Amino acid sequence: MSLATRPGRLFGTNGIRGIINEELTPDFVLEFSQAIGTFFQAGKVLVGHDGRTSSPALASVVDAGLTACGCQVTHIGFATTPMVQFLTKKWKMRGGVAVTASHNPPEYNGLKVIGDDGIEIEAEDELRIEENYRAKSWKLAEWDKVGHTTESSIGLEEYKASIKANIDQEAARRRKLKVVVDAANGVGALTTPAVLSELGCKVLTINANIDGTFPARQPEPVPGNLQQLSEGVRSSGADFGVAHDGDADRAIFVDDKGVAHWGDHSFALIEDWFLSANPGETIVTPVSSSQVVDQIAKRHGSKVVWTKVGSIHVSKTMQRIGARLGGEENGGIFYGPHHPVRDGAMAAALIAKILSQRSEALSTLFRKLPTFYSSKDKVPCRNDFKASALEAVRKLTSKFEVDTTDGIKVWQPDRSWVLIRPSGTEPAIRIFAEAKTQQKAKQLVRRYKALLQRFAKGS
Ligand code: MG
Repeated sequence: MSLATRPGRLFGTNGIRGIINEELTPDFVLEFSQAIGTFFQAGKVLVGHDGRTSSPALASVVDAGLTACGCQVTHIGFATTPMVQFLTKKWKMRGGVAVTASHNPPEYNGLKVIGDDGIEIEAEDELRIEENYRAKSWKLAEWDKVGHTTESSIGLEEYKASIKANIDQEAARRRKLKVVVDAANGVGALTTPAVLSELGCKVLTINANIDGTFPARQPEPVPGNLQQLSEGVRSSGADFGVAHDGDADRAIFVDDKGVAHWGDHSFALIEDWFLSANPGETIVTPVSSSQVVDQIAKRHGSKVVWTKVGSIHVSKTMQRIGARLGGEENGGIFYGPHHPVRDGAMAAALIAKILSQRSEALSTLFRKLPTFYSSKDKVPCRNDFKASALEAVRKLTSKFEVDTTDGIKVWQPDRSWVLIRPSGTEPAIRIFAEAKTQQKAKQLVRRYKALLQRFAKGS
């Protein structure tokens, strides 16, 4: 079913997503881009796209919709999402559009709409665009006010220069790190290998040809998907490996022993380095992150601000309170001195910087972190039963310490916790637990799954 006829909200947690030519059709994208162009009030808009098979064509459709509304479009072609975000701000655009479905399978595509601050637009602005689209109240320009599209290829150099300006290049050069980059056949191939090599690293790449069919692996960089990278790091004797998703805003790291680590643990390493130089600064992370983030902050006399899950909440919170570092469990690192959005190339450069300042191996740095184990699962639940199921669980857990920043996070007396959140993308409730032992984490997930199954109604 085309998104044009789908009832309910069109924007999900990360922009609009749909199956190419089935849900996300060219005519839908054209009209929706007219609604976006109207929202941007005929201003200057940056457009970039990922490496999916349909992305160049859909980006041209976006250009057409925007210029029809009088917007002046700067079209940068293949680009990572963090590149589009960074340049939207740097070039003082009224907004930006990234044509990407991030880590979704190859048959998907999508649109991320970016504000003039280079961060995704807020939910109420998404709603305004949706309403404009539904009411077909977009404003096409008079014949002599139609905008035009200018192609630009200088953005990549400006983006790389900003990352490099935040790294001590001399130290990076001295350490002569060897790094394997797995770009998932996505646009990260354009940024991370070049950034690391210009910083003096010896870079080996895998899956670095852009191919929208994602022939090597699914574009979601979760530790279970990264055997090829682990093998590459081990066989080449590299210092570390880094894997991105399809639009390279996320980075998951593999240590020198070939072990892949969850994003909140690599974030904790970056946090430890950052707070050593800037003790007392506030750190921002979603409630789904490991408490290792909190323990590292406490060591440096710092505090953590916990947000709802979703990159925009981390970015906007950092902006609001003036924090300079944020991170997510899925491999998002937000480094404010460069740009406060999650950025895979910036994350890779930071890990290179940390290693170049220390004599230890990455595996040793990970081993020194406090150890926690996590476990996750989900329970099918119709969207209209999610709220009542959550409320029922909340009532039953009233004797525990409960955090309702996003869903329900229940703290146990031994400081293990379980987070129960309605999924934003499917009819299910997600359960995520962290504890001092793997067994305890699994046990918590099992217990809350059984509890939820009493109240959830599967579809
Ligand atoms: Mg992404």
